[in-house]
Amino acid sequence: MSRRCEVCGKGQVSGNNVSHSNRHTRRKWNANIQTVKVTEENGTTRRAKLCTSCIRTSRKVQKDRKARNVESAI
Ligand SMILES: [Zn+2]
Repeated sequence: MSRRCEVCGKGQVSGNNVSHSNRHTRRKWNANIQTVKVTEENGTTRRAKLCTSCIRTSRKVQKDRKARNVESAI
């Protein structure tokens, strides 16, 4: 299972835990990847692994598209 966002490619990064006595131990940070249903342009739905920031952005884009459709209908 890959822990990588399918949209932006955000994934695991590594670094050090640093204790008060300045001992360094390796650690990893995982991106917040969630499995979500995605509707494609041809109407089919599939499951995709996206980071939470991309999920948030896609919701904003959907909202914006809806608003534009309302404006064009008026
Ligand atoms: Zn992403």
